[in-house]
Amino acid sequence: MSIKDEIRKIAELQELDTEIYVLQKDKDTKCPLELERMKAEFECKKQALLSIEEKIKQLQLKKKEKEVDLAAKEENLRKSQGHLYQLKTNKDYQAKLNEIGAIKADISVVEEDILKIFDDIESATASRNAEKETLNKEEGKYKEQEMAILNKVKDAEIKINSLLDKRKILAKEVDKNIISRYEQLLKTRQGLAITPVMGGNCGACHMLLNHQKINEIKMYERLVFCESCVRILYISDDIKL
Ligand SMILES: [Zn+2]
Repeated sequence: MSIKDEIRKIAELQELDTEIYVLQKDKDTKCPLELERMKAEFECKKQALLSIEEKIKQLQLKKKEKEVDLAAKEENLRKSQGHLYQLKTNKDYQAKLNEIGAIKADISVVEEDILKIFDDIESATASRNAEKETLNKEEGKYKEQEMAILNKVKDAEIKINSLLDKRKILAKEVDKNIISRYEQLLKTRQGLAITPVMGGNCGACHMLLNHQKINEIKMYERLVFCESCVRILYISDDIKL
């Protein structure tokens, strides 16, 4: 087979390999990153709900403490009121009345605190319910998107396998030295080993090629490489794919 025909074969091979390269990158890098990003975003939304739930828990604990406090104060009030009628002197009676007044004032402060906590619990519960509803919707969306990406990965795998089968057949038709050079370049040049000349420049790194180089390519006596990026060069008009 002439060098020109060999180049045509590896240029065809490059088309398959570029497709494989893009699919593989999508499957191995873009899709997992996207899944990770979506998961982190969803976990973050979940965290918002958990923090409201934690707040409600704290408020309920605080309410319980206040209620215990209130019960103790009420018990104290009852005792003081019981003592009131056992007191003999007017002075003691008045002092007890003052004490009872102070306890009552304390009780009303605690009762107000409890009412305030009750309101806080109510509004936090309303936020939690709204957050829960939002999260349920978000979860549905998240699962849907996750499934779409997993399906994309599966499709890419199927496509890659079929392209690999095709490339295997094509690669067998290329000269052993040329294919080994091509595959080596493919590995070290981000999946692009051969490129057409575009407007007098290397199609990959865009280095301007001199006339001598262009003439050398057009002779198709051997593989000609770009001096800058070391990729194999060809002229599209000569190598019709
Ligand atoms: Zn180049």
